[in-house]
Amino acid sequence: MPVMHIPGHEHQGPGEVSLDEILSVLGNCQRCPLGETRNSLVFGVGDPHARVMFVGEGPGKNEDLKGEPFVGAAGKNLESLLGLANLTREEVYIANVIKCRPPGNRNPKVEEIEACSPFLREQIRSIWPDVLVTLGNFATQFVLHTEKGITKLRGRFYETGHFAVMPTFHPAAALYHCEWQQFLDDDFRMLGQWLEEHPREARA
Ligand code: URA
Repeated sequence: MPVMHIPGHEHQGPGEVSLDEILSVLGNCQRCPLGETRNSLVFGVGDPHARVMFVGEGPGKNEDLKGEPFVGAAGKNLESLLGLANLTREEVYIANVIKCRPPGNRNPKVEEIEACSPFLREQIRSIWPDVLVTLGNFATQFVLHTEKGITKLRGRFYETGHFAVMPTFHPAAALYHCEWQQFLDDDFRMLGQWLEEHPREARA
């Protein structure tokens, strides 16, 4: 993963900038117009030293109101999927590609992703997980730098040099495409197996 420094916030290595510091640099972020329409900036939640970090697309209505990612129906699905990988919400970290809700849940715009993604990169660099699980097309294409769709990409792990990446369907998509739930279940079982087979890596 290319190292992206938050301007004026240079650092040397993985894990050296805390999530609190990144949050304080974000502040009352107005780097894109979503800052004007959001209720809450949804930074992320979970263990700052998690082995597994989940990346979704962006906050929806419930997340915007509560200030926490994946608290609506998609979040309920995610929580039961975590159980299939023998994980709990408390021991993973969950964030999104963008931190503020696009009005009407429209797709994030390129300029919004460009403004916001350095902070996701810094969160990944701070947490330095063993595995990044990308939920849906947006997060997967962003992390893997690809235009391929999730249907083609899911079902296996990818190595980026620093992290393993497991792309899978977005848990909200399975609420509308019931036939995808089985693939999600399979992928999360595969994640649980991968974690068992790969003991925690030494931090750089
Ligand atoms: N969908 C996402 O991609 N992220 C959330 O936080 C909630 C729903």
